[in-house]
Amino acid sequence: MLRFWEKRALTGVVTEHRGFENDIAQIRSALKDEVKKRFAGSLAIRMVDSGSCNACEAECNALSNPLYDLERLGIRFVASPRHADVMLLSGVLTFNMYHHVMDAWEQIPEPKWCITLGDCPVMQAPFRQSFAIKGPAEAHLPVAYHIPGCPPSPEVIMRGLLAFLRSLD
Ligand code: SF4
Repeated sequence: MLRFWEKRALTGVVTEHRGFENDIAQIRSALKDEVKKRFAGSLAIRMVDSGSCNACEAECNALSNPLYDLERLGIRFVASPRHADVMLLSGVLTFNMYHHVMDAWEQIPEPKWCITLGDCPVMQAPFRQSFAIKGPAEAHLPVAYHIPGCPPSPEVIMRGLLAFLRSLD
C-alpha cells in the first residue's frame, strides 16, 4: 500500500493536460468575443446530416460537455432551421437526403451561412465512390467555410467556427 501512494505521489495526475486546457480556454474566450461582436452574443446553428457515419455528429455532441461548453459562449444548436443563422452540414449529400438538405437551407432566414463539416461533404471521405451521392456540397450550396477532418475533433470544430467568424469581415 505504501508503495502505491509513493508511486502516485511521484507520478502525479496523468489524466490532466494543462496545455490542452489552456488552448481550449483561449479558443473559448476568442469565440465568445467574436459571437458577441458579429451576432450580438447569440449564434444559432442547425446541424444537418446529409448522410454521415455519425462520427461527426458525435464530435459535435461533445461540444456541449463541460470542457468545451459551447452554449455558454452564445453558440446554440437549434432544432428548427427557421431559428438558425448557420447550417452545419455533415455527410456525403446522398440522393435521399438532398431535398431535405435544400429544404432546410431554404427555411433558414437571411442572412445565412453554410459551413461544411468533415471530409464527407467535400468528397474526401471513405464513401465518396458510392453511386448514391449527389456531392460535393459546394456544387449545390454556397459554402462559406469548410471544417476538415474525419472526424474533426471538438477543438478543430471550435477553431473552424472561430476562423469562420473572423472571415466575416
Ligand atoms: S467525415 Fe468521416 S467521420 Fe465525418 S461523417 Fe464522413 S466518414 Fe464519418
